[in-house]
Amino acid sequence: MEIYNTLNKKIETFTPNEENTVRMYTCGPTVYHYAHIGNLRTYISEDILEKGLEYLGYNVLRVMNVTDVGHLENDSDDGEDKMEKSAKREHKSVYEIAEFYERAFFEDCAKLNIRKPRIVERATKHIDTYIKIIEKLLDTGYAYISNGNVYFDVSKANGYYKLSGKNPDDLKIGVRETVEEDKSKKNPYDFGLWFTVSKFSNQEMKWDSPWGVGYPGWHIECSGISYKFLGEHLDIHCGGVDNIFPHHTNEIAQSEAFLGHKWCNYWVHGEHLNDSTGKMSKSKGDFLTIGTLESKGYSPLAYRFYCLSSHYRNQLTFTYEGLDEAQKTYNKLKNRIKKLDRTPNLHESKIDFYQNKFKQAISNDLNTSSMLTVLYDVLKDKELTDFTKLYLIEDFDKVLSLDLTIEEENKINEETESMILKKIEERNEAKKNKDFATADRIRNELFDEGIRLIDSREGTTYEII
Ligand code: AMP
Ligand code: ZN
Repeated sequence: MEIYNTLNKKIETFTPNEENTVRMYTCGPTVYHYAHIGNLRTYISEDILEKGLEYLGYNVLRVMNVTDVGHLENDSDDGEDKMEKSAKREHKSVYEIAEFYERAFFEDCAKLNIRKPRIVERATKHIDTYIKIIEKLLDTGYAYISNGNVYFDVSKANGYYKLSGKNPDDLKIGVRETVEEDKSKKNPYDFGLWFTVSKFSNQEMKWDSPWGVGYPGWHIECSGISYKFLGEHLDIHCGGVDNIFPHHTNEIAQSEAFLGHKWCNYWVHGEHLNDSTGKMSKSKGDFLTIGTLESKGYSPLAYRFYCLSSHYRNQLTFTYEGLDEAQKTYNKLKNRIKKLDRTPNLHESKIDFYQNKFKQAISNDLNTSSMLTVLYDVLKDKELTDFTKLYLIEDFDKVLSLDLTIEEENKINEETESMILKKIEERNEAKKNKDFATADRIRNELFDEGIRLIDSREGTTYEII
């Protein structure tokens, strides 16, 4: 498989440390609010990566954390604790907030057919591991204590700027602009490993430690959980591009200082989903969730289809027009598959050919739109029996996870029903005006989406086909 590695800024041939087994870590959700559809785009890409690797024959050991610990905006302890803020807003404890939004996250994932990683671990469950790592970092001189807090000394790290590819001077400007300088640090990029001195004095989440009662910094959980469940060598680490700096940069610094060797070979980052105002962001407050899309009559899997139509390394600007198009194309595709004859009649001659094409699309830096093209090629191939097409589509759907061969009940929601009634009215109007071309177009468009209009003397009704 060829995959773009952020660490070396190029597409590389993927070779895991252990033959056939891939150790993969993905940064999980921060559970102080619902995941927005941008976050979910990243999880869809990671799901495709995991399933794509499996399709290629690897056994994937995948671990994900859930950030349920009071999450600071930045390292200098002057950000806002989003968990505490949500708890106040919703009159709940921080633990209740974390539990509620963690469940909501996995419900959204299930709707999008994103498989839950084999191991999912809450950050608050592994404080002992973070303490063990921090103790070693202090012993070996990578960390220092200042004003009650423990910081990582970035000047001691090897190749600190390698992942981000930034130069220290650019970062200096970035840091100064966004972060109120923490006077306890030796230099501005040093980051907190453990805080005992905090402006959040009545923080609900705190633990005892050799340095006093406090809480971990916001990078150590991923190093700790990954080390605990995947060991000293990681094959792939994923996340969205915003994680490259500082989060992943700091993960590398502390993990490699702790382990004493290179930690992870491939860093895979998903580009962002933007809205018309720019990057979609949880802290902006006003963001789109899967629930929002559902309430407007879209199916979650049409959103998955929308994401798969673009490459994970390209930015994608979300528009409802784009999603409308995706929903239509997805419905049409499902409808076309539904009409295939299911009588068993498998022709094996071209199965390998198409499976290899599909593997090539996966291996080409996870080219999801090429994967879909292979699927359309199968549908178009006149030499294949319907049953063989279904066999291949089901096989590809192990990766695409679009429920392509699953027939839903003929149930529609209110939103779709009012859309159909509106179309019927438009068609009646067109017929009244003798605009039969428009009338036919409307009928055909609905038919393509699996809705057949039935004209009778009493008027027009419809059925789901
Ligand atoms: P969070 O829950 O905010 O920690 O983010 C969860 C994941 O979503 C991380 O991997 C982020 O890098 C990613 N992410 C955040 N914003 C976006 C966005 N607008 N588009 C795509 N991925 C995002
Ligand atoms: Zn992480």
